[in-house]
Amino acid sequence: MSLESIAERWANVNERVATAATQSGRAARDMTIVGVSKYVDVEQTRQLYKAGCRDFGECRPQSLWEKSAALSDLSLRWHMIGHLQRNKSRRTIPIVHCIHSVDSLRLAQQLELDANELGTSLSILLEVNVSGDPNKTGMLPDDLSKIANAIVPLRHIQIRGLMGMAGLGNQEPRADFAAIRELRDRLQSELGSDVQLDELSMGMSGDFESAIQEGSTILRIGSILFS
Ligand SMILES: *Cc1c(COP(=O)(O)O)cnc(C)c1O
Repeated sequence: MSLESIAERWANVNERVATAATQSGRAARDMTIVGVSKYVDVEQTRQLYKAGCRDFGECRPQSLWEKSAALSDLSLRWHMIGHLQRNKSRRTIPIVHCIHSVDSLRLAQQLELDANELGTSLSILLEVNVSGDPNKTGMLPDDLSKIANAIVPLRHIQIRGLMGMAGLGNQEPRADFAAIRELRDRLQSELGSDVQLDELSMGMSGDFESAIQEGSTILRIGSILFS
């Protein structure tokens, strides 16, 4: 077994992203790799920063708060990628660059309220569940348009795109990623120039190359960086 360092793993992931981008006629610089640090402690997260990673994702608010405080000396961007309870919104907003996991109108309304009171605004993605797996988080595709239309007028949160996952055990993740992209395209033409849905947060350690083929702009990569 080879004991690669985090720096070697980070370099390797970047190479794979660049190769996949080229094969899809895309540029790697148009994609952001979010290093999902939920598996590791503060020290290993810091090593990933030293390797060159500047965007970090956590899926539990408590871990996000703790890590961002412990790493406040670094210039990096935090992404909230897991379920956010409404009572954790206020404390999370000042820390994050983007919340990927907005999965209900009620959460969006809470974020709007808190961002307004904090005198700030923030970027969000709408999380959709396209795989039909009831254990998965995210809103159903049928609810997306209604929820998005209700969020657009809110002044303190801006929808930047969609986030989603391919179904587990799905032999061909690409079909799920294509479905997310098509939902985004449809929503963009419905909402018009009031919003710019440029971002597609899709692709994890096991399937990011398929996600790149379908237009992903944000890759959320964890396990292959650390083991
Ligand atoms: C853990 C997690 C990831 C990273 O998954 P890996 O397969 O470890 O790369 C990405 N997105 C979300 C929402 C996660 O919870």
